[in-house]
Amino acid sequence: MAKVLDGAAIAAQIKQEVAEEVRALASRGIRPGLAAVLVGNVAASEIYVGSKVRACEELGISSDLITPPSDVTTAQMLELVEQLNHRDDIDGILIQLPLPPQIDSKNLLDAIHPAKDVDGFHPINAGRLQAGRPALAPCTPAGVIEILKRSHIPIAGKHAVVLGRSDIVGKPAAMLLLHENATVTICHSKTEDLAEHTRRADILVAAIGRPGFVTADMVRPGATLIDVGINRLTTREEFDRFFAGDAKREATFAKRGSTLVGDIHPKAFEISSAYTPVPGGVGLLTIAMLMANTVRAAKLRRGI
Ligand code: NDP
Repeated sequence: MAKVLDGAAIAAQIKQEVAEEVRALASRGIRPGLAAVLVGNVAASEIYVGSKVRACEELGISSDLITPPSDVTTAQMLELVEQLNHRDDIDGILIQLPLPPQIDSKNLLDAIHPAKDVDGFHPINAGRLQAGRPALAPCTPAGVIEILKRSHIPIAGKHAVVLGRSDIVGKPAAMLLLHENATVTICHSKTEDLAEHTRRADILVAAIGRPGFVTADMVRPGATLIDVGINRLTTREEFDRFFAGDAKREATFAKRGSTLVGDIHPKAFEISSAYTPVPGGVGLLTIAMLMANTVRAAKLRRGI
């Protein structure tokens, strides 16, 4: 029977460790601080940022929620980042994505001081990660590694296949797995014979944003499946494709009018040895790792 890798329990464990570190810093008169920048009124972004601010409060990290209007310019955003770079009470700067189209997102993210780049997106931090000297690693891929390690799933020597090569998930996940001594294959939309690769994975990490794309025939029985994808299903037809006959899901769908599915088809989980569910898996680690990165940034900046 496949083991469910419980993201909630692992995230709670990490948050508890972070809270202990925050208490230790408090005894030295230091309080880590996160600036969360939320542009405009995108509902999903408001929910994400709200959870991040609440997590700060829960752990004793100070947070400053900054909400520029949706018509803010790149120049104004650059000025804001410059101010935050210089503020001594701010250890981490988080700019919630996506940004409105008039903003030059790349330029803006590059303007965040690497020491305060708690999302780990800055080219300097990406370079450090590649060089094997990670300071602040991207939160979601770092969460993937925490799930594997804390669940005692061996990585060294295993064949890890990462589906997706984005700068925020796929590439850093592959790099972190490589540093853990996995043999890593990265697949993307131009990969030929994709299933040939995925079937050879001991650990399969799916981060492509395609609902239930990885089917049971693409998975080696007994593999560990890490599902990073978050896809919302809103139609009955889509729902039935994945969850027909699942009473618990049916109840959520009836109540909310939607439910989430990852990039891995639920049927594929049945032949795995262990898997992360969606929801309740990798997604919960992302915020925990953001908190861990904020405390890490606070310590690194002070040479602790
Ligand atoms: P991107 O859209 O930036 O990247 C998707 C990647 O998947 C690309 O590399 C693309 O290849 C590849 N891809 C797309 N279609 C296929 C296909 N049919 N076969 C093989 N590869 C394919 O997405 P992100 O990396 O930002 O996110 C991926 C998923 O993870 C999304 O569902 C997102 O919601 C979720 N996510 C979850 C987070 C969490 O907290 N759990 C955090 C961040 C993301 P190519 O490069 O060739 O175009």
